[in-house]
Amino acid sequence: MSTTERPRILVVGGGYVGLYAARRILKKMRYGEATVTVVDPRSYMTYQPFLPEAAAGSISPRHVVVPLRRVLPKAEVLTGRVTTIDQDRKVATVQPLVGEAYELPFDYLVIALGAVSRTFPIPGLAENGIGMKGIEEAIGLRNHVLEQLDKADSTTDEEIRRKALTFVFVGGGFAGAETIGEVEDMARDAAKYYPNVKREDMRFILVDAADKILPEVGPKLGQWGLEHLQKRGVEVYLGTSMDSCVGGHVVLKNGLEVDSNTIVWTAGVKPNPALARFGLPLGPRGHVDTAATLQVQGADYIWAAGDNAQVPDLAVGEGAWCPPNAQHALRQAKVLGDNVISGMRGFPQREYKHANKGAVAGLGLHKGVAMIVFGKTKIKLKGRLAWYMHRGYHGMAMPTFNRKIRVFADWTLGMFLKREVVSLGAIENPREEFYEAAAPVSAAAAKKAENTAEKAKAS
Ligand SMILES: Cc1cc2nc3c(=O)[nH]c(=O)nc-3n(C[C@H](O)[C@H](O)[C@H](O)COP(=O)(O)OP(=O)(O)OC[C@H]3O[C@@H](n4cnc5c(N)ncnc54)[C@H](O)[C@@H]3O)c2cc1C
Repeated sequence: MSTTERPRILVVGGGYVGLYAARRILKKMRYGEATVTVVDPRSYMTYQPFLPEAAAGSISPRHVVVPLRRVLPKAEVLTGRVTTIDQDRKVATVQPLVGEAYELPFDYLVIALGAVSRTFPIPGLAENGIGMKGIEEAIGLRNHVLEQLDKADSTTDEEIRRKALTFVFVGGGFAGAETIGEVEDMARDAAKYYPNVKREDMRFILVDAADKILPEVGPKLGQWGLEHLQKRGVEVYLGTSMDSCVGGHVVLKNGLEVDSNTIVWTAGVKPNPALARFGLPLGPRGHVDTAATLQVQGADYIWAAGDNAQVPDLAVGEGAWCPPNAQHALRQAKVLGDNVISGMRGFPQREYKHANKGAVAGLGLHKGVAMIVFGKTKIKLKGRLAWYMHRGYHGMAMPTFNRKIRVFADWTLGMFLKREVVSLGAIENPREEFYEAAAPVSAAAAKKAENTAEKAKAS
């Protein structure tokens, strides 16, 4: 961390909002006008809309993340977690990856902590569930699903096989529907290479407490998405929830009970709970309460946006807040960046207003839904065309030219070479095999050293 005479703009969180706001500030700032410091426990921004495709192996996981230090060379990037904010002293406490926490003074503050998975106290969920918020989870899910196929192919025990081939997804919004769509597609592809596993042997189950899926694309397309998944053999249970999943024994409220090694939790998000320690005004659901200028209520030197903020949705009207999605996060970040510069220079603030442009969702290769809004007209697309829209939109929205090229290259290679269907589950314990090889040798060496020491003592 540098100590400088310049004012410090502290950006807490280097995700969508943090990255784009910092870039905007750096672009608009005069040379030496301020120090921009970005703090995030990860050294990269994750393009979350691509997580389902990363889980399905259509995009390399490394290409879904954007290294902060590389794209923000003029910023100070600190890898750590902001744990508290002292507004009176204008100081944040940073807990670095290792070592003692330290204090970081700031003049202007941007709160961009995003959201975390919204969970409920369901017995067995913490031990058995896997979320879909980070690239680590997408990689883990992919390896895990392919490993289940390996297991099922190798065993003669019908119970083990059935449990391995049952995949439960809870939550049918964007993240859940896209993830089950992509993962089912990948498993279907992968099954071709397993003599003892067929698609019909697998059970894919989607559960949602609501009476529809994909609410983001509207009821008609949501219904199409639902029927499409059902045609592919996905069992969809709506208006019900998961009561427990202890030891992988899943019990739904509607009475269905299945055993599964794979329980994917995508039942919505909630604002980052760390906000509770920041002393900022929070709304009823825990978001930072901001004005339409993205300034935190009552603090004109603090701005917040994205999934952790409740921003008035001026395009919808009184009492409405912007939904937590990338479309808003990206655009809010740009307005926020401009407003930070204006705030620093004593100029007036601009209000954020953006009318929904629609939504696109991929449900596996060549399958998707898209709703595009042009003024009062809504264009609804489904199937292959919608899938092209989904890829085109997100491919272009992916931050940095470098990442765009990499993503498009992955897709192009996938067209000709097919996706990889190999599980690298052992990556989670990379030292295991080496330990087995080295442990007996180390033990023998230790024993020899002990004997030598004893002999030396005796003589
Ligand atoms: C699987 C999935 C699919 C999605 N698909 C779509 C889609 O198709 N279209 C769409 O519009 N939206 C989609 N979204 C939503 C979209 O990705 C989010 O709305 C967007 O990422 C929000 O941006 P953000 O900056 O608020 O939060 P994030 O991008 O989550 O960034 C928050 C950052 O804060 C950091 N952080 C957390 N705690 C601390 C701390 N204490 N100190 C410092 N830093 C911290 C985190 O590490 C993270 O980098 C999807 C989300 C998911 C999970």
